[in-house]
Amino acid sequence: MSDEWKAKTKLVHGGTRRSQYNEVSEAIFMTQGFVYETAEQAKGRFEALGEDEFIYARYGNPTVAMFEERIALLEGAEDAFATASGMAAVNGALMSMLKAGDHIVAGRALFGSCLYIVEEILPRFGVEVTLVDATDLAAWQAAVRDTTRAVFFETVSNPGLEVADIKGISEIARAHGALVVVDNVFSTPVFSDAIAQGADAVVYSTTKHVDGQGRALGGVILGTREFIRGTVEPYMKHTGGAMSPFNAWIMLKGLETIDLRVRAQAAAAARIATALEGHDKLARVIYPGLESHPHHALAMAQMGAGGTVLTFEVKGGEAAAFRFLDALRIVLISNNLGDAKSIVTHPATTTHQRLPGDQKALLGISPGLVRLSVGLEDEEDLLADLTGALAQV
Ligand SMILES: *Cc1c(COP(=O)(O)O)cnc(C)c1O
Repeated sequence: MSDEWKAKTKLVHGGTRRSQYNEVSEAIFMTQGFVYETAEQAKGRFEALGEDEFIYARYGNPTVAMFEERIALLEGAEDAFATASGMAAVNGALMSMLKAGDHIVAGRALFGSCLYIVEEILPRFGVEVTLVDATDLAAWQAAVRDTTRAVFFETVSNPGLEVADIKGISEIARAHGALVVVDNVFSTPVFSDAIAQGADAVVYSTTKHVDGQGRALGGVILGTREFIRGTVEPYMKHTGGAMSPFNAWIMLKGLETIDLRVRAQAAAAARIATALEGHDKLARVIYPGLESHPHHALAMAQMGAGGTVLTFEVKGGEAAAFRFLDALRIVLISNNLGDAKSIVTHPATTTHQRLPGDQKALLGISPGLVRLSVGLEDEEDLLADLTGALAQV
């Protein structure tokens, strides 16, 4: 039934499991375990887990299951496994399927911790890694070989906001039998259609837009039932990266409002990007929703929107960027994104500080670059805050 509902209905009602009290708002089943009526029932449950049956919260929990089902409905995925954080999801999706001797190809412009897994951890276990420019289909074509087990990329890169072609990369990967795993945080679950576009597995940090209010860490891996239950679940349940039932409840309630929030944030981001483009204190404004963006057409075809984040380069390097950040009165200096509160980040000295200079240059992380995650404040207040701070540079 719920498969036929439109997305917004799925987000409010999908996956609901009511207890005997028939509560309206989903219950938090804050329990690690479950009581069996008889020894025989315990035996039966360990032999084969039935629908709506649970053994231990590391394996599954009713509140976590509600969240998994609801987000799977939104994404159009057969199944989902919720994780303790976005990084537990990325690690779980990759480690659960890879073994020594495998090869993977990954987009170079990755979130710092994703890059650490791909560059530092996987090679320790004999997985060979090739990094490519994710926007260059010819580079993917040249890098993929018969031992390539998976390709992995961020569909919109952080902080450069370059857009990778999910369909194009998936066709190349599929021709070599490689699984396509995308980190879709910057596309957001609202604008994602990654599975229809060819991805086999989609990973989110639900810390970002799903919570959307800066409260809890979380992550999720979405894919086919075979991949989630056959490959991901055995790895996750034995290695302990499960989502807490309390956090699952936060994420579940986050899904009820995510469509409204993310669309409002993306519309505000588009208007702010348009207003700031050409500002005399800025060298450039990067936003996939702007026609000036090199991948504007692809972004519109793939997501139908530009997303909730924009970046811009303040003229005058780090000193000018810091003056701008320090002069803001509403927008907060922090490093989350997708939050109801607008947040600015200076990637070169924080999130991407560890990267060597040549890597920073390659990814366009210049000393003047600022990332802005647009929240839910009044747009006029935000613009006044941003332009007021720029005036002080
Ligand atoms: C935040 C983020 C992650 C990691 O998520 P956590 O919830 O912080 O572990 C991974 N990938 C991208 C693109 C992110 O923005």
